[in-house]
Amino acid sequence: MKHTRFYRILFFFCACLLLFALSACSDDEKPTETESESESESASVTDEPTELPTEEENTEPKKRVAFTFDDGPHPAYTKRIVDCARAHGGRVTFFVVGYMLNRSQDHADAFLYALDADCEVGLHGFSHINYDECDEETFLSELSRTLDAAKRIAPDFKTALMRPVGGRIPEEYVKICPYAVVKWNVDTRDWERHGGASEQEREEEIRAIVDEIVKSAKDGSIILMHDLYENTAIAFERAAEILASEGYEFVTVSELLGEDLQAGKIFSKGKPIEAMQTGKNK
Ligand SMILES: [Zn+2]
Repeated sequence: MKHTRFYRILFFFCACLLLFALSACSDDEKPTETESESESESASVTDEPTELPTEEENTEPKKRVAFTFDDGPHPAYTKRIVDCARAHGGRVTFFVVGYMLNRSQDHADAFLYALDADCEVGLHGFSHINYDECDEETFLSELSRTLDAAKRIAPDFKTALMRPVGGRIPEEYVKICPYAVVKWNVDTRDWERHGGASEQEREEEIRAIVDEIVKSAKDGSIILMHDLYENTAIAFERAAEILASEGYEFVTVSELLGEDLQAGKIFSKGKPIEAMQTGKNK
């Protein structure tokens, strides 16, 4: 009996010892886990300032727009627009008119100024006629006469782009056109937002152009303007400032459209736009 009691006491003592040992073990593990977590947290906190912002900068997609200016060159406003684009580290595209190139040495110089700044220059037409109101021969001659006028000023001049006056061009002319036909997807209507009689009226016109650009521009936009008006130059300067602060880059049409660009097709949003023929996207 004495032995049995002794063994019972020994068993109870061992059981207590085992329980104590187990609980001590698990208590030991907890701080270790917490330590290792806090170590890795403190390690990542230390890395954050050097690594994370750089990663975000690299992965953030660039937003790009192509500002385009028709009907020039103009001795004052073309240069002003080029300077503004350059101040933002960007470039723009001009669609020139043949008779404007021939108008004076100042006009020719403005064209050269745009080329020297690596801006892109495409053809608009020689006499600014509508291509849906002329025959095929006249259409092709409008383009070749504009090219000749440009080459007289800059003998090495080449281009892959044209823009039809008012965006109007018959489908059969697009197919035979030796250039990519470039339309737009943001219309600033600057051609009717100028000439206000008072300073206040002009300020309202300029504000309307800027608002249209800031409201409508998105990555891939081709923005239609005209380098014929002071309002346009001022509005471009203000809009460029705002878009640049939002992270936009200003690129040429060829930079924006890249390899998609080809002669005999209409472009607006980076891809050939067949629907624009029917006027659906205007
Ligand atoms: Zn025009």
